Amino acid sequence: MTDDTMKPRRPSGPLAAPGRIKEIASVSNPIVKDIRALAQKRHRDETGLFLVEGLKLVLDGIEAGWELKTLVVSKAALQGGSDILTRAVSRAVGFGADVVEASAKVLEAIARRDNPQSAIGVFKRQLTLLARVRIEPGEVAVALDRVRDPGNLGTILRTADATGAKAVVLVGDCVDPFAIETVRATMGSIFAVPVVKAREAEFLEWRSGFAGTIVGTHMAGAVDFREPDYAKAATLLFMGNEQAGLSDQMAGACDVLVRIPQAGRADSLNLAVATGVMLFEARRGALSL
Ligand code: SAM
Repeated sequence: MTDDTMKPRRPSGPLAAPGRIKEIASVSNPIVKDIRALAQKRHRDETGLFLVEGLKLVLDGIEAGWELKTLVVSKAALQGGSDILTRAVSRAVGFGADVVEASAKVLEAIARRDNPQSAIGVFKRQLTLLARVRIEPGEVAVALDRVRDPGNLGTILRTADATGAKAVVLVGDCVDPFAIETVRATMGSIFAVPVVKAREAEFLEWRSGFAGTIVGTHMAGAVDFREPDYAKAATLLFMGNEQAGLSDQMAGACDVLVRIPQAGRADSLNLAVATGVMLFEARRGALSL
C-alpha cells in the first residue's frame, strides 16, 4: 500500500491553518458533488478519502488521530443551538478541516437516505502494511479470504475491536473497508483496528515468516475450534469467503483447520458470526469482567 498507508496522525492542532466554513444549500454545488462521489470505490481510491456518518463516529475518528478533511453539518441543527455540534465545528476548523453548513437536502443527498445524521465527516483513509503486523503469544489477528459483504466486514472489524484483535488482514479481492456500508457497520471500530490489504502471494510470503499458528476455519475441519491452545501461541484466525469458504491454496497455508460444531439444518454459520465465535474463544483467557 502506498500513500494512505501510514501511522495515525493528528493534524498539528494550533499549527494547522484553520479550515474554512461554507454554507451550501444546493445539491449541485461542486463540493457536494465531490463528497457524494465518495460513495463510489473509484473515487475513494482516487482521492484516498471516505465518509463517516454521525457526530459520535466523527469525534471518534478525530480522537483516534485520523485526518478529518471536511465536516458536513446540518445548518438547522446548528441554528437550533446544538452545543455539541457547535463544539465539533470549532474543533474541526481548529484542526484545519473545512466545514460545510448544509441544508437538509444536501445532507440527504450525501448520505443517500432520508433523515440523515446531523454530521458527516470526510476522512483520509489509513491502511497498515502487512510487514507492520505484530502478534505476540496469546494475541490474535484475523485474516479474511475474499470477504465480499460490507456488513460482514464491518461487523468483523467491530468484533475484532471488542476482543482486542491486533489487525484484520484482507486477503485477495475483498470488499472495500472504506465503503459507507462497511464503515456504518463498524460503529467506529474502523478507527481502532489496523486494516491490511494483501494479495494472495504477498500473504503467503508473509506467512512463511510468521512464527505463530494459522488457525483456518473450515466446514471440513477435523479439529474442534476449542482445541487449540490460543493462550500459548500468536494466532492468526483465517476465515473463508461467504460462498466458497477458504480456497484450497489458503486452506493449505493453515497449520490447523478447525470446525465449530453445529446442530440443526444450517449448512454453515454466517461469516461474521463464525468470526465472533472464534475471536471470543481465542481471547477467552484474556477477556474477563
Ligand atoms: N459454503 C461455504 C463452505 O463450505 O465453506 C460456507 C462458507 S461460510 C458461510 C463462511 C466462512 O465462515 C467459512 O469459510 C468459515 O471460515 C466460517 N464458518 C462458518 N461456519 C463455520 C463452522 N461451523 N465451522 C468453521 N467455520 C465456519
